[in-house]
Amino acid sequence: MTITAESFVHVLLFGCPSCTNPISFALATPERNPEETDARSFALHCDCGWKGAKMGILAKRHWVEFWD
Ligand SMILES: [Zn+2]
Repeated sequence: MTITAESFVHVLLFGCPSCTNPISFALATPERNPEETDARSFALHCDCGWKGAKMGILAKRHWVEFWD
């Protein structure tokens, strides 16, 4: 894979541990590889009032989009 100036958006979908509603998080990064995002910690908050941090690897879904 070559190095480019392209950007990617990683979209992560977590489940709230309190009410089980989905919590989405979108992260723009030049890194396409999901492993780095999986290793990050995300500060999440839910409409039910739950707040907390979760590692990307704990997301129920994780997908990557081209972002131009
Ligand atoms: Zn919740």
